[in-house]
Amino acid sequence: MEEYDVVVVGAGPGGSMAAFTAAGLGLETVFLERGRKPGDKNSSGCGLGQRWWRDFPEIMGELPGLPSYRKVEMVVINLVDEDNRLRMRSGTTGSDLDATRWPHGMEGASVYRSCLDPFLAKRATDEGAELRTATLASDVIMDDGRVAGIVTDAGERIGAKVVIAADGAMSTMARASGMRNRWGAGCTLVPQLDFGCDEGKLDDVIGNAEWCWFGPFYGAYQVNFREGFHLGAGQWLRRDWDTRPVDMLKRVMAIPAFQAMTRAVDARPREYQAHLLPWMEKPAKSFSAGLMLVGDAAGFPCPLEGEGVWHACTSGRIAAETAAYAIRKGDFSERTLSEYERRWRASSLGLEHEFGREFVELWDNSAFDPEKMGRQIQLLLELSMLNPFSICFDWGDAHMECLNMHLSHFLDMLPEFGEFGGRYIKPFARGISPGNVRRMLCMMKPRLPALRRLSDERYLWLLARFSRSLRPYLEGREGE
Ligand SMILES: Cc1cc2nc3c(=O)[nH]c(=O)nc-3n(C[C@H](O)[C@H](O)[C@H](O)COP(=O)(O)OP(=O)(O)OC[C@H]3O[C@@H](n4cnc5c(N)ncnc54)[C@H](O)[C@@H]3O)c2cc1C
Repeated sequence: MEEYDVVVVGAGPGGSMAAFTAAGLGLETVFLERGRKPGDKNSSGCGLGQRWWRDFPEIMGELPGLPSYRKVEMVVINLVDEDNRLRMRSGTTGSDLDATRWPHGMEGASVYRSCLDPFLAKRATDEGAELRTATLASDVIMDDGRVAGIVTDAGERIGAKVVIAADGAMSTMARASGMRNRWGAGCTLVPQLDFGCDEGKLDDVIGNAEWCWFGPFYGAYQVNFREGFHLGAGQWLRRDWDTRPVDMLKRVMAIPAFQAMTRAVDARPREYQAHLLPWMEKPAKSFSAGLMLVGDAAGFPCPLEGEGVWHACTSGRIAAETAAYAIRKGDFSERTLSEYERRWRASSLGLEHEFGREFVELWDNSAFDPEKMGRQIQLLLELSMLNPFSICFDWGDAHMECLNMHLSHFLDMLPEFGEFGGRYIKPFARGISPGNVRRMLCMMKPRLPALRRLSDERYLWLLARFSRSLRPYLEGREGE
């Protein structure tokens, strides 16, 4: 039987990053891909966003050389009502903070996975890892209670000190090793249609932007590449469906504003696919003796956006570093590999999942629930109507009368907004830092005649005494 330090299963982003890192650390590494080449599963490609410049700058620097690359600098949100009318189109523009917070401002990238995966796999083979394509890992080798290698569907046995499973949402390795059978409630199915278009027209009409479509249907995203785009939508598997996955996309394709955009860029459908995406409240258990799960196999995609390529690469890197640590120790026990979970929890990947439950509940009660979404679109439109510019442009009545009409209409809707806000937005308050809570309270002090003469310290002390909900922010967390 062949023996390696590390066997990586899967040559998606997570697997290639794990193989690249392991080989770079001097470990004898092989990575296996069931497809004829990496990138056969051409399912995603956006979200190579600002943090990539911080964590993987050498990759970002080379992406413009890939044929499907499009620079991304903003997200455009299209809000559609139940009669399919486009009611609001607004784009994120970034702020001065974005320009200083990230090395390249808001610059990100979109690249088809059919380009990205071969590029990442080549980095790994250039670093010394061995790639075997058309090789399906179908089982694990168990030795004294630990995973000690894999078995291919051709019956070949490959031994390893550590196995890194980067085999995606369905992870055969997680199931074969007994770590997990099926996903619980949080798995999502994402149907996606790829369109080819005229590159120049796409530049003119879309520019360097991703688009989203929100309405009384499942929220949909439009990832734009150099000469094509993906239209995709998602829905939890746990819901009862009355549609086929492709029907979710047909709902978006029926929007006249969407059709106008496709005509303007000469879009023509090219490829349809539907894949599972673990969109979880929290990741699954990610290690056992001799085995670590990375990327989708561990349920790492972002609970807010379902973005998962960065998460796969980040966890792949941490898993390979942990493998090197275990090999140095000569100990592949579950206890030693728990270091993997300690490390990813301490990284920004761990931070991303601290609000998993809140984000999932927010989606569950908005974009993934067409009925509730219908009402929330209305609320968002009401909110936007309160914006002074839109009221000034209403020339139908005296402006103050107009303002009062809008206000009264808005107040009619407020109870519903209050209920939604209280239940699904308020939970995020626990993430606001004590320092920012103190700043906000101190900004209110001059407006409180009875308290404004107090020193800030005394004022905050008093608030802590009388408000149980503010107390955790105000006591014993100096300097935060
Ligand atoms: C439709 C869709 C759109 C998405 N869009 C985006 C996006 O725009 N941006 C973003 O950041 N994320 C996106 N995601 C999420 C993202 O695709 C995943 O989170 C990411 O690909 C996870 O990478 P991975 O390496 O863990 O797994 P995968 O990308 O699934 O790669 C797994 C690899 O392992 C191979 N494999 C599987 N089983 C075996 C086996 N037994 N033996 C050998 N090889 C095996 C597969 O062929 C595959 O190449 C999207 C997901 C979907 C479904």
